[in-house]
Amino acid sequence: MKLIFEKSVPGRTGVLPGPSDVPTGINIRADRLRPKSAELPELSELDVVRHFTELSRRNFGVDTNFYPLGSCTMKYNPKVNERIASYPGFAHVHPLLPQLRRGGMLTQGALAILYDMDLLLREITGMAGFTMQPLAGAHGELTGMMIMAAYHRDKGNKKSIVLAPDSAHGTNPASAAIAGYRVVSIPSTDSGDMDLDALKSALNDEVAGIMLTCPSTFGLFDPHIKEICALIHSVDGLAYYDGANLNAIVGKARPGDFGFDIVHLNLHKTFSTPHGGGGPGAGPVGVKEKLLPYLPISIVVKRNDGTFALEYDRPKSIGYIAPFYGNFGIIVRAYAYILMLGKEGLRHVAESAVLNANYIRERLRNYYKPAVDRICKHECVFTTTDKMAENEIRALDIAKALIDRGFHPPTVYFPITVHESIMIEPTETESQETLDAFIDAMIEIAGLAENDPEKLKAAPITTPVSRPDEVAAAKNLNIASLCLD
Ligand SMILES: *Cc1c(COP(=O)(O)O)cnc(C)c1O
Repeated sequence: MKLIFEKSVPGRTGVLPGPSDVPTGINIRADRLRPKSAELPELSELDVVRHFTELSRRNFGVDTNFYPLGSCTMKYNPKVNERIASYPGFAHVHPLLPQLRRGGMLTQGALAILYDMDLLLREITGMAGFTMQPLAGAHGELTGMMIMAAYHRDKGNKKSIVLAPDSAHGTNPASAAIAGYRVVSIPSTDSGDMDLDALKSALNDEVAGIMLTCPSTFGLFDPHIKEICALIHSVDGLAYYDGANLNAIVGKARPGDFGFDIVHLNLHKTFSTPHGGGGPGAGPVGVKEKLLPYLPISIVVKRNDGTFALEYDRPKSIGYIAPFYGNFGIIVRAYAYILMLGKEGLRHVAESAVLNANYIRERLRNYYKPAVDRICKHECVFTTTDKMAENEIRALDIAKALIDRGFHPPTVYFPITVHESIMIEPTETESQETLDAFIDAMIEIAGLAENDPEKLKAAPITTPVSRPDEVAAAKNLNIASLCLD
């Protein structure tokens, strides 16, 4: 397709401007005048509408088709929540409006939602209190690590190490490192769980805590989770729960009950905000009682007269980690979602997410090699078969072939501990018909990968761009060239 400038036809126009109201006869220095007219695209309205509609159709989103991106929860989110978040009372409220007295009537509703959301998330996770400020999952992790550090500093503990399993989401060790800790990686066993002996031998007084993605990035729930928390507590460490993908257990089990001290949730994965394109998101952080004083300022409190106010006077707080109260619109969406589903609905989310993932796992396990062959939670991980490897078929070839069949590829090459990994997260919102269509495509691709591999090497052939040279694309970015035929 041509760029919009190249489609321009001299003299064609989509608007009829009225007569100019700029006064003529003003003396402007000749060197300040354009030597020739500005070159603007000359197109009809229809040309422009078709151009941008065509571009929009090249975009793949969860509204287009199945998007089984493991570890990222690309699910359908109810459109009604977009509507609710855009109500003028939510969308136009300004953070500097007075909380009480004159103007308070404009903000009390917003504060009530922040307050209520805190109560709901406590109930869902088993924690004692939340901050809504963090603007993403990784931002929540950093907040949690800063709370961990503040706690140890306050107690006079000399701690320098944070443990993380080798299956951790990449942001976990990064967040601990940014907070000033040295990260020690704990290996996984062949069954995908944390190696408890390795954990025990890594434990010492220097250990500030552990960061655990749960379920792990293998999509597995570690059956030793309580024991792991107890071990960490035995050296006065804190256990951090990465709950980005809480849809695996929401309504069924609570990280607070397993023994975790700090937890973050990704509202933009589990609780109804379209996820992708880098945001906006929200990563609220919840803590147990003893860590409440360290939560960021401000906190919404309810006064005796029933009104809500922001509390700033919190001497042990780690301070601000974001301006004002976080991404309020995201919190409104999540609030509406939680109220709409209720307790039973949330439980159903977890059950469907897990059922869908296991349906895919079970139907594909004879065609691809499962990374770990056991019941999974919300996502399942495969790798290529020996025959595929012999044919030099890589996870990337399978991902690209799916594009030609109308599906977004799953996550590939993550988790990094699995060679040629293919990580599929169907989410709770997909129907059996969609899952079956995806599975059929995966089975057909497996057949080609083993018997006619050359057919897959050229994929994708239905897209405007086939396989970009990824190294060159990163080093020598030229966005305009992507729009050309
Ligand atoms: C997505 C994700 C994160 C990071 O969340 P962002 O909002 O992208 O910063 C952290 N941990 C896990 C397990 C995740 O899936």
